[in-house]
Amino acid sequence: MTRVLVTGGTGYLATRLIADLLRGGAEATTTIRSAEREGAVREAVRRGGADDAGLRFVVASLTAADGWAEAAAGAEEVHHVASPMIQTTDPDEVVGPARDGALHALRAARDAGARRVVLTSSFAAVGYSPKPVRDYDESDWTDPETPGLPAYPRSKAVAERAAWDFVEREGGGLELVVLNPTWIAGPTLTAEARSSLQLFTAMLGGRMAAAPRQRFGVVDVRDVAAMHLAAMRTPEAAGRRYLLLADGGTTTWLGVAQVLHDRLGPLADRVPTTEAPGDEPSPLTIRNARAKRELGFAPRPAADTLVETVESMRDLGMLGSP
Ligand code: NAP
Repeated sequence: MTRVLVTGGTGYLATRLIADLLRGGAEATTTIRSAEREGAVREAVRRGGADDAGLRFVVASLTAADGWAEAAAGAEEVHHVASPMIQTTDPDEVVGPARDGALHALRAARDAGARRVVLTSSFAAVGYSPKPVRDYDESDWTDPETPGLPAYPRSKAVAERAAWDFVEREGGGLELVVLNPTWIAGPTLTAEARSSLQLFTAMLGGRMAAAPRQRFGVVDVRDVAAMHLAAMRTPEAAGRRYLLLADGGTTTWLGVAQVLHDRLGPLADRVPTTEAPGDEPSPLTIRNARAKRELGFAPRPAADTLVETVESMRDLGMLGSP
C-alpha cells in the first residue's frame, strides 16, 4: 500500500484527489489548518466514493513549520496542493504563505525520504507576463516583478520558482513534477463555495451583471486530479512542468455564461448576457501537447465540465433557493 501525503485536505481539488487516491488503495494523510475541518473533509471524500476510514489528518499551516514532519512521516509520495486561493490586493497575504508552504512541504518530503513531490502550480506562473503574441507553453514563466501583476499570479510564480530552486540546491534526490492548470472547474465534492466555485455562485446569482472581458483556459478538476496521479507514476515526468487545459482553445466569461445559459435552462437565468465595456482581449493560446504526450492527458470537453459544476452545486444545495 503506497503511503501518500496530500496537503490542504479541505480544498476543491484536494478533496477530489484524496478520494481518487483512497479509491485506488493508497494510505493517505492530509494536512488541514484547523482540526475542526476534519469532518467536512471526510464527508467530501465519501461523496467521492471513497472509504475514509484510513484517512489520517495532521494540523499544519503553510506559514509555520509545526506539523509538517509528522504529516510527511512515512510518505513515499507527496502531492502539494495547498496554496492561498483568496481575492486580495495585498501580496503579503498570499505570496509568503504560498512560497513558505511549498518549502515546508518539500523539506518535509525530503526529510521523510519521499520519492517524489507533485506540486499544483498554475497557468498563473506561466503566462501572466506580457508577450507580443499570447501563445504559451511550458517554457514560459510569469515574471513576479511584472508591473501591475496581481498578488495571486505573483504568489504562484514565486512559489513554483522556490520549489524548483529548493529541489536543485537541497533536494538530495527528491523528484519534483509541477502541474500548471488553467482555471479549474468541474463537479465539487466539498459543499463549500470556495475557489472557482465562487465565480459560479456569482454568475448564477446575478452578481456578475456583465461578463468581464478576459480570456482564459478551463480544465476539469477530475482531470487535474488524474494528472496528479499520472505525474506521480510517470518516471520521465521528473523535473518537468505541465500545462493543463481542455481542448478547443481558451474561452471568455461570456463564453462560459453562454454554455450555462444554453444547457441549464432556468438555473442559468441570471448569468450575464453581455460583456463589460472595454477592448476585446487579444487572442490567447495555451498548449497542452506535453501533458497529452507524456502523461496521457485526455481532457473532458470544457462545456460538460461547466455544466456538471453547476449540477453538482445544485445537488449539494449550494445555489440557495431558486
Ligand atoms: P481551495 O479550495 O481554496 O484550496 C486551497 C487549499 O489551500 C485549502 O485546503 C486551504 O485551506 C489551503 N490553504 C490556503 N492558505 C493556507 C494556509 N495559510 N495554511 C494552510 N492551508 C492553507 O482551492 P483549489 O482550487 O482547490 O486550489 C488547489 C491548488 O490548485 C492551489 O495550489 C491553487 O493555486 C491551484 N490552482 C487552482 C486553480 C483554480 O482555478 N481553482 C487553477 C490553477 C491552479 P483552508 O480550507 O483552511 O483555507
